[in-house]
Amino acid sequence: MSADPIVLCGIECMKMCRFVCVAANQLKLETVTPYGKCFLAYYLRKEAITGRGRVAEAMYQCATCGLCKEWCLPKVDIPEIVKEVRAKLVKDGNAPEPTLEIGKKTKSEKNPYGEPHEKRFAALNKKGKSKMGSVAYFVGCTSAYRQLNIVNAMAKILEHTEGEFTLIDDEWCCGAPLLSTGHIELASEHAEHNKKAIEDSGCSVVVTSCAGCYMALSRYYPKMGFPLKVEVVHLSQYLWSAISEGKLKLKKSGKGGVKVTYHDPCHLGRHMGVYDEPRSVLSSIPGVQLVEMDWNRRNSKCCGSGGGLQLNFQELARRIGIERISEAVATGAEFLVTACPFCKNQLESVAEGKIRVYDLAEIVVEHLKV
Ligand code: SF4
Ligand code: SF4
Repeated sequence: MSADPIVLCGIECMKMCRFVCVAANQLKLETVTPYGKCFLAYYLRKEAITGRGRVAEAMYQCATCGLCKEWCLPKVDIPEIVKEVRAKLVKDGNAPEPTLEIGKKTKSEKNPYGEPHEKRFAALNKKGKSKMGSVAYFVGCTSAYRQLNIVNAMAKILEHTEGEFTLIDDEWCCGAPLLSTGHIELASEHAEHNKKAIEDSGCSVVVTSCAGCYMALSRYYPKMGFPLKVEVVHLSQYLWSAISEGKLKLKKSGKGGVKVTYHDPCHLGRHMGVYDEPRSVLSSIPGVQLVEMDWNRRNSKCCGSGGGLQLNFQELARRIGIERISEAVATGAEFLVTACPFCKNQLESVAEGKIRVYDLAEIVVEHLKV
């Protein structure tokens, strides 16, 4: 992309992005469209407008899902433009109140939920030991404080495949929610801390089930100057290797098989290009029939929780989530599986019993052949 995004969006483009933006489709507001945000970013940069009130609000009505970029011929990177503006809004104190609040909560408790830091590994009940050269489990804030079932499933999987696994002493939030909402300096502090904590654990591989943690650790830590010296893998990649190597075997699902559909987390799919491994894992469960939603892989629609949407605009996030659930139900699947605790948390909260929502770790643990 050579020209200024404003030129591409304003003059040269048919603006196909407007038809796919999950936020603009719900709110029907020009300012919320991808190009609307691009224009706002331009005028903010020129100091022709101030980043307060409705302008700040519009810049946070974005899931940073990246679907607009897929439909944009010159590949204007709206999520990155949005994040850059948000960093300035946070710095100037103009970001929405919940965003400013998570900065304070994360500063004091090392997680955006403001839950007690010392209870981070409470679900693990003393599992996970320090052991040189082993596989480490990076738990992440949403699993640790909102999706304890995923933590237990991860522990069982890692015990099954590795015998023992390592926990990162003093694990802090990976920084993904900080980066997407504009708390750049704090995210950098977290990256520096976690790099040291992970490397000090003596592990050679760090596994996480969270798409946001995976993206932060593998893509953003190097960008912030803190590349990890250990390999970072997402659970879906770890599972697929273990299955391929015969380290992990799965047993048949249900009596006559079960129809399952898969939701690509934006941070795992579009942002990191991991589409095949979760599908391969699901398809390797005997009796599972994987059916796709209309919007899948690079065209997958966001669950509604990303980019601080759930934090700042619950009703908008809820409506986006309900649309995704309807799409899943339309496939005729009994289960909707995703590969991120944050997506699972959101989809489960809006499913209203229409479809059962699982994380990949949870469905795999139910089918472990012991
Ligand atoms: S973001 Fe891309 S598709 Fe949308 S208006 Fe700008 S150039 Fe066009
Ligand atoms: S990143 Fe997603 S929510 Fe944000 S403008 Fe693009 S399509 Fe819309």
